[in-house]
Amino acid sequence: MEQQLIQIAQWIITSKRLVVFSGAGLSTESGIPDFRSPGGVWDKYDPEDFYFQNFIASEASREKYWQMATEMYEPIKMAQPNQAHLAIAELEKLGKLDCVITQNIDGLHFKAGNSEEKILQLHGTAIFVSCLSCRKQYDRDEIQERIKKGEKAPRCDDCGGILKPATISFGQSMPEKETQEAYDRSSRSDLFIVIGSSLVVQPAASMPLVAKRGGARLVIINRDPTPYDDLADLVIHGQAGPTMASILEYIKKDLIPDPQSHEEYV
Ligand code: NAD
Repeated sequence: MEQQLIQIAQWIITSKRLVVFSGAGLSTESGIPDFRSPGGVWDKYDPEDFYFQNFIASEASREKYWQMATEMYEPIKMAQPNQAHLAIAELEKLGKLDCVITQNIDGLHFKAGNSEEKILQLHGTAIFVSCLSCRKQYDRDEIQERIKKGEKAPRCDDCGGILKPATISFGQSMPEKETQEAYDRSSRSDLFIVIGSSLVVQPAASMPLVAKRGGARLVIINRDPTPYDDLADLVIHGQAGPTMASILEYIKKDLIPDPQSHEEYV
């Protein structure tokens, strides 16, 4: 394991265009459940209730959606970045990061210190709410206050349109600019590191393939196996936080491992 971490650190040091691709598994150590792990969101809710078409179709669906979204927002609001987010933010400070393509909606890359221009949020953000008619944006906390006071499926103050968290639901179009840029940066990357993603949600999950075809080295750091493990140059089945913290340590020490700090964490 230690050799693998040193190898990844070495690849990062020599990389010119490092792309980090993050998923819900990056944030479980911050207390935000992922979708597919036991005890994750899909153990509790029916994915159909998240479909955009259903949200648009009926007031009852919207009420149910907002009920689930309210419950899911609480841990997001309270969450603090973990070791993995902090290591990724540090990579930006070290000038080693081309960008982060994230499926996450929790804003933790920003809380960790990454700058706006480095983060491509493929699935939007839970931190804002948008009107689906006039596009007016609201702060999420403001809308949650209205829900607390009794509104069940809030409407836009300006135009009466349907309000929805600014996240991308199943069946909703992906943000065009971010998606295109994510494909471009994936294809131009020379090192592509997946952290905490099951790599089953499309089209986001095709990015590692695009990177690999463009000539990048592919590293996957995920607790469980993914469909792309066979394609990767190096796979670590472990926890994102301690793994990224160790890799960062090796980068900082310029690859001279300290035998005293050896840890087991898988
Ligand atoms: P996923 O739930 O499909 O997969 C998460 C993966 O992370 C799993 O394979 C699991 O083995 C791994 N994992 C869990 N904890 C880990 C840890 N501590 N270290 C390393 N690996 C760990 O999530 P996904 O691939 O991101 O795709 C599903 C969708 O989930 C995305 O569209 C995303 O928008 C949404 N989502 C986001 C959040 C968030 O923003 N934090 C939370 C839940 C779901």
